[in-house]
Amino acid sequence: MSVWSCPICKESVHQEARMLRCINGHTFDMAKSGYINLLPVQKKKTKNPGDNIQMVRARRSFLDKGYYSTLLEKLCQVVKNSFPAGGILLDAGCGEGYYTSGVFNYLNDSGLASNIYGVDISKYAVDIAAKRCKQGKFAVGSIFNLPVSDKCCNAIMSLFAPYCGEEFNRVLKPNGIMTLVIPNERHLIELKQAIYDKPYLNEVKDTELEGFCLKAKETVDAEIVLSTPEDIQNLFAMTPYYYKTGRKEQEKLFSLTELKTQISFIILQYQKKG
Ligand SMILES: [Zn+2]
Repeated sequence: MSVWSCPICKESVHQEARMLRCINGHTFDMAKSGYINLLPVQKKKTKNPGDNIQMVRARRSFLDKGYYSTLLEKLCQVVKNSFPAGGILLDAGCGEGYYTSGVFNYLNDSGLASNIYGVDISKYAVDIAAKRCKQGKFAVGSIFNLPVSDKCCNAIMSLFAPYCGEEFNRVLKPNGIMTLVIPNERHLIELKQAIYDKPYLNEVKDTELEGFCLKAKETVDAEIVLSTPEDIQNLFAMTPYYYKTGRKEQEKLFSLTELKTQISFIILQYQKKG
């Protein structure tokens, strides 16, 4: 059985030349960089949903400078803890593949040959992910309607992406492991203080999730120093505040030349019940 499944009829798919086809004849093209487009046209709300090319480039540039490397290191250790050799890992909402590729390399270097899959709704992000992690398999698709077969993944990871409990539960094997990363209360507080008159703390929700048992909870805290206006703006473009910033705040943002800010994350690891 293939890991990818048809997003229209849910049947499994097989590869034919540079496309995937399901038994009902739905076909999906493979892009030059190797990813598959598994987002049905009728499910698209806009022509190119998800992060646009500027946002994807901003994130790649920022992450490639290693500002979040402390998170990547801890994430690798947490995912590795319960990962079976040769297992299948799905990165749901993989973005441009910084963490996907980092975890893949770490598992392989630890002797746990893994099969890694990534799904994101932004084709610009997935294109970069496919180029970054050539051994991985990537698809443009919705995490609310994952183009992934039932009970085929040993593990899922999801960083800063919407939580889709039912879908994550469906594609995980029995007792499969799910690792989530969320921003902690004071993540980027100094960035917010520099821009907003009344900065809010991030809301951290209850960790109990239906269908899963919490196995581990780790926090990652560090301080980063952004020394160019470009890095500061790239970081801001990665945040949810980017969408709701007025002109006054934007001017404050553009006037910043250096910024020291704390980064703070929570890594939560769950096991699927039953
Ligand atoms: Zn189909």
